[in-house]
Amino acid sequence: MSGEVLITVSPECAGSQSVSSYNASKRHERTETRERSARTREVHDCDAARRIVSAGDASRQTVSLEVSASPRPPTFGVITVPVEKGPPMSVPTAIAPTTALSALLDDLRGEAPDIEVRASSPETAEFGYDAGTAPRRDALVPDGPAVAFPATVAEVQLLVRLAARHGVSVVPRGAGTGLSGGATAHADQLVVSTDRLTRIVEVSPVDEVAVVEPGVLNAALNERLAPLGLFYAPDPASWRISTIGGNIATNAGGLRCAKYGVTRESVLALDVVLADGSLVSVGHRSIKGVTGLDLVSLFVGSEGVLGIVVGATVRIRPLPVARRTVTAFFDSTSAGAAAIGAITASRVRPSVIEFLDEPTLEGIDAARDSGLRARGAALLLIELDGFGIDEQTAELTTALEAAGARVRVESDTDAEILWELRRSGRRFDERSWFAGGDVAVPKSRIAEVFAGFSAIEARYGVAVSAVAHAGDGNLHPVITLPIPVDADPAVVPASVHDAADAVVRAALAVGGTVSGEHGIGTVKRALAAEELAARVREAQLAIKTALDPAGLFNPGKAL
Ligand SMILES: Cc1cc2nc3c(=O)[nH]c(=O)nc-3n(C[C@H](O)[C@H](O)[C@H](O)COP(=O)(O)OP(=O)(O)OC[C@H]3O[C@@H](n4cnc5c(N)ncnc54)[C@H](O)[C@@H]3O)c2cc1C
Repeated sequence: MSGEVLITVSPECAGSQSVSSYNASKRHERTETRERSARTREVHDCDAARRIVSAGDASRQTVSLEVSASPRPPTFGVITVPVEKGPPMSVPTAIAPTTALSALLDDLRGEAPDIEVRASSPETAEFGYDAGTAPRRDALVPDGPAVAFPATVAEVQLLVRLAARHGVSVVPRGAGTGLSGGATAHADQLVVSTDRLTRIVEVSPVDEVAVVEPGVLNAALNERLAPLGLFYAPDPASWRISTIGGNIATNAGGLRCAKYGVTRESVLALDVVLADGSLVSVGHRSIKGVTGLDLVSLFVGSEGVLGIVVGATVRIRPLPVARRTVTAFFDSTSAGAAAIGAITASRVRPSVIEFLDEPTLEGIDAARDSGLRARGAALLLIELDGFGIDEQTAELTTALEAAGARVRVESDTDAEILWELRRSGRRFDERSWFAGGDVAVPKSRIAEVFAGFSAIEARYGVAVSAVAHAGDGNLHPVITLPIPVDADPAVVPASVHDAADAVVRAALAVGGTVSGEHGIGTVKRALAAEELAARVREAQLAIKTALDPAGLFNPGKAL
């Protein structure tokens, strides 16, 4: 659709922030739109004028402003729409919320035309979601948020200042692989993407640190480190596609966290843009450092609600001298889950301990024809690393065999296949509804949680299974229910969600937590409120208010 719009506004309205800046940037287009033979509408106030500006932007019409010399008339102005250039422009009130955003974008084009920005439109619809909340493509909302791609820290600061000036909320975004709705955004919000902040600023083997911009992919950092004999330990299964900034904002976990800890254990210092646009550096480059409150830990896992991470100093480590994959198959899920304790009781600390229950093995076999179930009904898939790998293997084997396992050291080729199956072998039948989760429990209670699945299955008429990062008590349960032929796949029955909530409550009952690694985002806030005491929630909100009094960053998430 194309067309032209002329708005005549009073001096009073032209002086209002968003309309006047629009006026300045569009002044050169003014004279072409004087054919007043078309439809005329009265404009009653400045807000209406701003809405027209927004609508013009949204429908790609040329919108021109003209300041009336006369004092404010009873009806505030006129718009003229030449009908021959397209259908009449509608000015629905539904677009009112994007008014401030349009004004922000106008200011941005005036003040920093070099920053790449996409206005709210159907083309930005994908930025409305993350990997955990994306609907089928045909169900995307019509208009996504505006999206800015700053290439420098100063540009991030400017964007935040402009957003604060116009009261537009900001959603920081890495790669959008989050699974909790943390990076979701509405049409009236500004997404600040870290896509152009991808420099690995420094690698210092002597200090054992790397300094990176937030948009660096986890895999890209490790590719840079590997030739130096170094690695960055946190390894979410999404490591090839997720950013260091996103990993920090979610305090991402991963397979190797059993030995090396979650992301928090690898972050020493952060540069963060706060809600007033100021830039702060927190933490330290030294491995130790306890001066003042630990604000690094505060920002790690804060899901973009406290500030935008624009730089990170992370710990790097020497690559292990050896790695070895060991499998332990059991006759039942319960026997396998019970054996996790046998590993803890030994003196071996594997880098990875993954537990796959019977339905998970059957599911992988069905998807990949892998033959795992033929070897047993449950699997502990373990990686050892470091010096003394033979001694570690011997002690681990003794402990697992005593717990009833059939233990095998896998060849490098088979190990690669097994880890690939673990990371991406789990497929979900498109003819089933499903819901997931990422609860964590004390390691001693993992077996109890698995044992409780059958009661949840019986109560809600669903199937429940899980894989677990058993080394740190983190379970990924999956609840499935076959979709009847005449049912709408988009309408997930309440029983599926209720069963997922029941798994979370089972975890809470044994001293666990709602989220072990994916974060709260938008999808787990109600459950988080069940876990956190009222006074604790108050304290968290007080911190949010102290750093971001206007609620600029990522409203409706995490807290
Ligand atoms: C196939 C797959 C496997 C996964 N496996 C794992 C796993 O093993 N472990 C795990 O923990 N997660 C896993 N995830 C989830 C996801 O990859 C992680 O949460 C990851 O850390 C998100 O990174 P991202 O760059 O995609 O961030 P986004 O999804 O873009 O953002 C996530 C959150 O961080 C905020 N954010 C992003 N960048 C910044 C920044 N620079 N400053 C402030 N806030 C910011 C966003 O606002 C949002 O709240 C997986 C996801 C997929 C799709």
